[in-house]
Amino acid sequence: MQPKPNIVHLPVYQPGKPVDDVKRELGLSEVIKLASNENPFGSSPKAKEAIAREVDNISIYPDGAAVDLTAALAAIHGVNPDQIIFGAGSDEIILMIARAFLVPGDETIMAESTFPQYKHNAQIENAVIIEVPLKNGTHDLFSMLERVSDKTKVIWVCNPNNPTGTIVTADEIEWFLSKVPQNVLVVLDEAYCEYIENSSFPNGIKLLQKYPNVVTLRTFSKIYGLASLRIGYGVGRPDVIRSINQVREPFNTSRFGQAAALAALQDEEFISFCRHANKEGLAYFNSSFEKLGLEAFPAYGNFIMVDVKRPAQEVFDALLRKGIIVRGGHKLYPTHIRITVGSREQNEKVVAALTAVLQEIAVKV
Ligand code: PMP
Repeated sequence: MQPKPNIVHLPVYQPGKPVDDVKRELGLSEVIKLASNENPFGSSPKAKEAIAREVDNISIYPDGAAVDLTAALAAIHGVNPDQIIFGAGSDEIILMIARAFLVPGDETIMAESTFPQYKHNAQIENAVIIEVPLKNGTHDLFSMLERVSDKTKVIWVCNPNNPTGTIVTADEIEWFLSKVPQNVLVVLDEAYCEYIENSSFPNGIKLLQKYPNVVTLRTFSKIYGLASLRIGYGVGRPDVIRSINQVREPFNTSRFGQAAALAALQDEEFISFCRHANKEGLAYFNSSFEKLGLEAFPAYGNFIMVDVKRPAQEVFDALLRKGIIVRGGHKLYPTHIRITVGSREQNEKVVAALTAVLQEIAVKV
């Protein structure tokens, strides 16, 4: 048997170590995982009630078109229902966009370093990957534009960018969109947008009115705290959404996901609590890093990337031994770690542990 030649070199996704394994292996009673940008406050109680109500229906397929959730989001965003598509997380929408739009030899442009699923799915379709280095941890839209050719099919802009946490502003993205040919699809991945109150941050869904070649991705995995239920959505022009829908599996989102998402949307109190706590957490990390003499990229989502001025792997290992899981291993940032904003108590523990670890490990870089 011969798999597709362009997938044989692809790595199999390695999930982070489960908290219980770390506890057992290191003999720790408490482990704090701030590695996957999950919501430290869980999810809305309304979402849990909605799931409980769905339990009696688990033998029945979900609504493949997610009609109720579509209607709710269409009203919130002021778009038509035919402009929305759901995926098993926004991960699956990225997959479907690659599947629907990229054929072997098409060019696709993305930042280096950014969310890895853009490249991963484009590789599966045998597209030509063009990675444009970040500038100061931020998308370099000018250089990305320079790489556009008549073979370019899809451009990916992660805003805020994972892993650096930086944003491109409304003015910057509008400048970019005004120059990109209208036949090139621009995917704006706004997985963390609900955390942001800054008025210079663009809303991709509003940009659609002026730039119909934009698709905006959102997710219920972050501020809504529904990561395990795998539900995210994309908003775009009806014909673009139809193309993505044509490659969608019939029942790609679950009953639980749809019901919980609908309920979570209605719990503004929970969302604003999370947004506020996250803002405080970011401010706390920024001031703590400053005291430690460390520089972090300007963070807008629920995570922050900081230069620990030592090999990231050593700091990662030392933090792990203290029961704290963060994210390191970014190829272009060998001395940076990414930390998800946790609860106040978790953030304080992380800073205390990092302070101790930095003293243990001499500056090597
Ligand atoms: N986009 C970005 C930028 C992300 O960071 C993530 C998750 N880490 C996703 C998309 C995918 O999230 P999900 O599939 O859970 O919606």
